[in-house]
Parts: sequence; structure tokens; C-alpha cells
Amino acid sequence: MTISLEGRVALVTGAGRGIGKAVALTLAHAGAQVAVLSRTESNAQETAHAIEQAGGHALAFGGDVAETTTVESVIDQTLKHWQRLDIVVNNAGITRDTLLLRMKDEDWDAVLQTNLKGAFVCSRAALKPMMRQRWGRIVNISSVVGLTGNVGQANYAASKAALIAFTKTVALEMGSRNITCNAVAPGLIETDMTQTLPEQVREYALQRIPLGRFGAPEDIAYGVLFLCSEFASYITGQVFIIDGGLTVGI
Ligand code: NDP
Repeated sequence: MTISLEGRVALVTGAGRGIGKAVALTLAHAGAQVAVLSRTESNAQETAHAIEQAGGHALAFGGDVAETTTVESVIDQTLKHWQRLDIVVNNAGITRDTLLLRMKDEDWDAVLQTNLKGAFVCSRAALKPMMRQRWGRIVNISSVVGLTGNVGQANYAASKAALIAFTKTVALEMGSRNITCNAVAPGLIETDMTQTLPEQVREYALQRIPLGRFGAPEDIAYGVLFLCSEFASYITGQVFIIDGGLTVGI
């Protein structure tokens, strides 16, 4: 038995780099046609190009996940091109880390806007075609810090915790339409986002990961692939932790 997404159409946000790019490539490899949305259009185009080089089908869009008109236009164009939308992976996310007492209103607003409002805007727009099809999969990329909290990440942790409550609510509202909604909570994954961590923080984190390494973007992509597949058709409203064991025992 292998996972096939043949005939499915997916939208992956923040797919120009990192985890989102790995998710887009993995879903395409499984047979899905993939709409790639990233803030920087050239990054989206690079991912779409990589998908096509590997024999898949992709559309590239540059834009902000939290802007309703942009997202509605992306979904309209995707529907015009492929006539359906089955899967949305809300992956776009940013950090603006600092201790709470130093956190500016702009740091709070920017993180909540992209990480939380983005998922709301994209999910709301995607639910209409999914409801018509009576089939849909929404996967929200949260974080283990949405479960544990983290020093210096009050804005980010709050956005990721809220995403979990959002996930459960969508699952409750949409179950009867055969639309599932789950969250994936990654631990520490090697991407641009974690490249900037100070060496001591990386060393300390590494010591606390039972599997002894940071995750690769593909480690998350394979979990997302499973949740988007037929094998996960009875799973909804769940948080799938993929962290090498980082949060086990705390
Ligand atoms: P990166 O910083 O490597 O990539 C983030 C991606 O999101 C980029 O493609 C970026 O676009 C895109 N993006 C950011 N803001 C917007 C926006 N407003 N509209 C559209 N696209 C946007 O991050 P990661 O790959 O590391 O993280 C991906 C997700 O996983 C995030 O939600 C993050 O919070 C989560 N996560 C990551 C962990 C990690 O250890 N790396 C751990 C736990 C969760 P562009 O490149 O075009 O600027």
C-alpha cells in the first residue's frame, strides 16, 4: 500500500522555502497538483519549478496569506485551472522573538496576522469548494511551543496555541461535510527560521531531543502527507506532534 494523492489539488502556503517547500514537493510527488503560495513570488516560482522538474504540476503565486482579496484570487485561479481544491496546508508563519516586556505592538500584530489570521482567511476561502465536493483536508502547521509556551515567544506561542483551538473548531463544524482538519506541531526543524538561533540554544535543544537531531523539513512533510491521505480519513481535530521526542516527559 502506498499513499496516492492522484487527482487531488492542494494549496500549500509559505511554500517558497523550508517546511512548506518540502510539503509542496512531497504532496506533488504523491500525485497532487499543487498551488504554491509564498510572500515572495520568486520563491513560489522556484518551488513550482522544482515540482515540474520532478514531473509534477504546479501553479505559483506571490502574496500575503492574511489578505482576503489575495487569497480569494489565488483560490479562484486554482479552481479555474484544476476545477477543484481538496487540500489546504496552512504553513506560512513568522517569528518576532523577544521577551514580553520588550515586545512591541507591531511584533505581536505581525505574528498573529500571518500565523493565525492567515490560516483563518485561507481555510474560510477553501471551505466553499471543499463543501461542494464533500471532501476536504485542512492541515495547520502549529508548533510544540503552542503546547508548552516558550521564553521570548509570547506572540508566536499564542498564535500557535490559537491555531490548535481553531483546528478543533473547524473539525467540529466541518465533520459532517467529510472535511477533516488537523494540526501538526513540529519541534525544532532545520530551516531558515531556526538558522538564526544562538549556538548555545541549539546545543541545549539538541541535548533534550531523544532522537539526537533537529528534524528535517521532510520529517514534517511526511506527517502532513499522511493526514492528507485516505489513510487518515477517520482522524480529525487532532494535534500530531513531530518533534523527535522533544516534548516527551515534560
Ligand atoms: P521559514 O522561515 O523557513 O519559511 C517561512 C515561509 O513562509 C516562507 O516561504 C515565507 O515566504 C512564508 N511566509 C511568511 N509570511 C508569509 C505571508 N504573510 N504570506 C505568505 N507567505 C508567508 O519557516 P519554516 O519553514 O521553518 O516554518 C514553516 C512553518 O512551520 C511556520 O508556520 C512555522 O511557525 C512552523 N514551525 C517551524 C519550526 C521550525 O523549527 N522551523 C518549528 C515549529 C513550527 P517567502 O519565502 O516568500 O518570504
